[in-house]
Amino acid sequence: MAALFRGSRNLLQRCNKQHVDLALVCSRSMASKTPVGFIGLGNMGSPMAKNLLRHGYPVIATDVFPESCKELQDEGAQILDSPAEVADKADRIITMLPSSPNVIEVYTGPNGILKKVKKGTLLIDSSTIDPSVSKEMALAAEKMGAVFMDAPVSGGVGAASLAKLTFMVGGVEEEYTAAQELLTCMGANVVYCGQVGTGQAAKICNNMLLAIGMIGTAETMNLGIRLGLDPKLLAQILNMSSGRCWSSDSYNPVPGVMEGVPSGNNYQGGFGTTLMAKDLGLAQHTATNTKTPVPLGSLAHQIYRVMCARGYANKDFSSVFQFLREQEDEPEKKGD
Ligand code: NAD
Repeated sequence: MAALFRGSRNLLQRCNKQHVDLALVCSRSMASKTPVGFIGLGNMGSPMAKNLLRHGYPVIATDVFPESCKELQDEGAQILDSPAEVADKADRIITMLPSSPNVIEVYTGPNGILKKVKKGTLLIDSSTIDPSVSKEMALAAEKMGAVFMDAPVSGGVGAASLAKLTFMVGGVEEEYTAAQELLTCMGANVVYCGQVGTGQAAKICNNMLLAIGMIGTAETMNLGIRLGLDPKLLAQILNMSSGRCWSSDSYNPVPGVMEGVPSGNNYQGGFGTTLMAKDLGLAQHTATNTKTPVPLGSLAHQIYRVMCARGYANKDFSSVFQFLREQEDEPEKKGD
């Protein structure tokens, strides 16, 4: 009972302390169809921003490449020249950028969001980046009276187009509802993970497992094919057996086994090998910092880095199958 009382008193104290911030959240939610800023209109950002437009939110956007902006402009978005200009016009902003340095630039650079951010602005970063950078951005935003949350996504370009993404959200819990209002327009699942950076932590863990699963599927399929099995039959057997995983049943890396996946389209589109190598690098970094053994994650990181250096950088990450196929043994020389 005493613990319950202490808990509610703490909550009351926290609420009092955040009185001003909560008032700002309320005004943001009440003005729910006020403009939303969107920065980073690439493979993922563009369909995400379109889904906000479809839900009736005016979108004010920017990207360093003007051609990325054209399509969204044609769908009704207002395009501005810099993140600072977007921050001047919108009090809810979503960023979807390639990696940590881009996020640092867009938030804290000379034309960055924080140059013009309004007090109480909600900043949601959906890029996959280092959790420690998310924490740094949250502190920098707090100094300007704004709120930063990390909300990386799982699901590729297809899920982004169909508003079926999964968002993993880290940040102040009191702000979660305000973030959720926007994120549900772009995703099927929105999960609150805890303090800022925990969304990134969940995302990095997922992608490390995804990479390990994809490499395992690719080498298994390759072995089976070399042993004379038909790839479609082998995939069918795996998918009704204990070896089944997402890479075997939903994203098979062998050309011709499934339709509508990058392996059927010369590994074009999908989730790039460079982005996977980046995410595995983040997993390595965080594992080193926390002294966590991740031997298979390390190996997966090295495999994807080598692939990037060997011409696979712009292919989907399932091209690890093709990469393995190309590692043919030298034919045995006579007399060996
Ligand atoms: P992308 O490279 O296609 O798009 C990023 C966009 O950001 C580009 O249009 C680029 O011009 C823009 N940009 C970069 N620096 C900028 C700056 N300073 N100012 C304004 N715009 C800038 O990347 P993507 O595939 O859309 O991925 C975005 C993020 O989502 C990455 O962190 C990625 O790891 C993650 N992600 C991608 C997928 C996927 O399937 N592609 C899936 C899940 C998560």
